[in-house]
Amino acid sequence: MCEINGPFNSLPGKHGSATYRQAPNPLNLHQVDSLDVTIVVDNAIDILLPSDERTKRPPLTWDWSEKRQLIAEHGYSVLLTVHRNGEARSILYDAGLSQETATHNLDILGIDLKHVEAMVLSHGHADHHGGLEGMLRRIGKKKLPFILHPDAWQDRKIVFPTGTEIHMPPPSRKLLEDEGVQILEERGPTLLLDGSVLVSGQVERVTGFERGFPLQQARRNGNWEPDPWIWDDQGIICNVKGRGLVVVSSCSHSGVVNVLRNAERITGVE
Ligand SMILES: [Zn+2]
Repeated sequence: MCEINGPFNSLPGKHGSATYRQAPNPLNLHQVDSLDVTIVVDNAIDILLPSDERTKRPPLTWDWSEKRQLIAEHGYSVLLTVHRNGEARSILYDAGLSQETATHNLDILGIDLKHVEAMVLSHGHADHHGGLEGMLRRIGKKKLPFILHPDAWQDRKIVFPTGTEIHMPPPSRKLLEDEGVQILEERGPTLLLDGSVLVSGQVERVTGFERGFPLQQARRNGNWEPDPWIWDDQGIICNVKGRGLVVVSSCSHSGVVNVLRNAERITGVE
């Protein structure tokens, strides 16, 4: 069971978890020996690219055209594995858009999720939580810590300049409860895996040129209202030996400069 430290700004008693305690201040993010980032779902894929010294890709084989292939879709999901003191531990960050893509790609890659110790949702958009049910079933653990910002529950829509509107429903609380996860709503940073991984929590906005997502609206008290800021946007931060901070950030609706500056601020590592 992973240890969860957090948050800085509140300690909601409703969670009632023995694994849950106030984060130390200053924040103590441990250095890890290395970090593996496995892309499970992304918008694009090129299966002809070869592996190199930093990147491992599935090998091309003679009978490749007869095999099931990795699928790209508008969405995001990564498996993060930290190595520290000879131990490897993993979390999942997001689950892609459609119900089947993430689990399909996991099958192609031959990855088992039974060792995953926590799951983090980057924000409430459907292209990040659509595949949750299949992923959680693969993990197959009751009380799996599932970390999200409380604004991720908002019902939203995107209104494009063409007038086209698309619904952005939040994740289903019922689905998560049915799967038996431990829902942890946090606005502040959360340490996972005994301090090896940091969930950023809400990102401080300090730049004047990163203005959120102006096309977005949220339904509040039955009315649609402008909702450009996406305060639920959060990333994953590791401090990797010899490299410094590694920040994994899905849509970066906060703005990528804000995301990186916030990571430096909350860790004290530049
Ligand atoms: Zn998004």
